[in-house]
Parts: sequence; structure tokens; C-alpha cells
Amino acid sequence: MPELPEVETVMRGMAARLEGRRLTRVAVNRADMRWPFPPGLVDRMTGARVASFRRRGKYILMRLDGGDSVLLHLGMSGRIVLSPARPNFAPAHEHLTLETDDGTHLGFVDPRRFGGVDLVRTDEEDAHRLLAGMGPEPLDPDFTPAVLSAGLAGRRTPLKAALLDQSVVAGLGNIYVSEALFRARLSPRRMAGSVPGIRAGRLVPAIRETLTDAIAAGGSSLRDYVQPDGELGYFQHAWKVYGREGERCEACPGPPICAGIRRLVQSGRSSFYCPRLQR
Ligand SMILES: [Zn+2]
Repeated sequence: MPELPEVETVMRGMAARLEGRRLTRVAVNRADMRWPFPPGLVDRMTGARVASFRRRGKYILMRLDGGDSVLLHLGMSGRIVLSPARPNFAPAHEHLTLETDDGTHLGFVDPRRFGGVDLVRTDEEDAHRLLAGMGPEPLDPDFTPAVLSAGLAGRRTPLKAALLDQSVVAGLGNIYVSEALFRARLSPRRMAGSVPGIRAGRLVPAIRETLTDAIAAGGSSLRDYVQPDGELGYFQHAWKVYGREGERCEACPGPPICAGIRRLVQSGRSSFYCPRLQR
């Protein structure tokens, strides 16, 4: 499932190809994805020029020169696929098709349809129902230890669950929470309410560094992306703990001092951590 770094990478890839271009053809190929496509989407997009992009949490906002923003959510497995324009060709599971005045075809492909598309006025983006309750952007300077402390204070849930809550901090999912907690040396099981203060002071830079490293890996994947046909935003990244149950912990001396990375199921989802270092 794409999290903040993957969404950021998709957005940068879209911006590189679409910014400044005019949308010459827009097609909606079914009535709905996770929710119905908004009425008037095709009319309001067709002929507009793509002005800029913004990411908020796991959402992409494509801002058009007429004052509309197209909100895109990739869901569990949504993909943005770029190719040269292909008249009369709609690949399977491509639910939204865009063509630009320089002959680029962009398809939003999502077989499982957990993703979605909506339309909002650019000056009202932050009031959109999906964005209104969202917490701070972790890479913004106003995401400080004091802000995170306030978000976690008094919470009687595991820290892992609190960090997945998009109202505490935007854009994190299962992978990057595990990675950030490893970096901060905090257990995913620790009660969220015990973190405000000095531990939040460790966690904020750990979250930032984890995301920044992953975005850099995503950027490298974009530079490698030289084919005219291709898919944006999913890249190989070397996780330190995620998906590494039973493997040696790179920060520890190895057995018998550290038995390696362990997996724990919390609310039905896996957390990966080093029980020796993360407390
Ligand atoms: Zn370890």
C-alpha cells in the first residue's frame, strides 16, 4: 500500500510530465472507484492547463488553471501509468485516462478500486472531507516534538496505532511506522501516552529521516525511469526491520545478544521491531 514516500514519488513523476501541459482528452471509464467519480469531472478537466501539484498525506492534488484541484487517492494498489498517447486504447482496469497536448497518455489503473478521484476548488482543498481532519505533514517544519507530544498525550493505545492515525500525523502507514520506531528505538507496543516529551523529541527526527531517505530512493527510481512506457512510484527500498522477521538486526551485535528482528501482530497488522533496542 502506497504511503507518503510512494505518493510523493508518484506526484513528482506526474509533475515532471504534466505541469504546464493542457489536458486535451479526459475519459472516465466507469462510474465509480471507491466512491463515484464527481459529476462534471470530464468537462471541468478537459482543456484545462495543469498548473501545479501538491501532496497532502497520501493524497495527490493536481491543480488546474481554472481553480479546480483534482484529488487522487491511490488506495491499496492504484497505479499511475504513463505512455505515449494511444487513441482508442483503454487498458484493463484503467478507470481514468488523461491525454496532454504533448502526446502523453496518463492512466489511473486500479484493479481493486480502493483508490478514488474527486474534485475540489483549489482554495478549499483543506476543507475537503478527506483532508479536513488530517494532522500535520511530517516533513513540514511545524511538525515539532511539541506538536507530536500534544497529539499523543493521554492516548491509551499502542504507539504503533497512534502513528497510523492520520489525525496525529499525516501519511504514515504500516511500513514507515515500523521503520521510524526502529530508528527512534521505541517499541511499537509502548503506550502512546508515555511518549510525549523526550521520546517525542527522538521520534520526530526519526520519522523525518525515515521518510526523507525513502523519498530519495523514490527519486532515484524516477531517474532510472527512462522508458516512455512505465509506472510511477513503486520502488525497491532496503528496509531495516519491515518484512525482516528472524533476520539479523543491523544495529545489534547478533546472537546471543540480539536474537534478531521480531514480528508482532497489532490490530491485525504486522509490526517489525528489535526487542533488544526498542523499548
Ligand atoms: Zn537489535
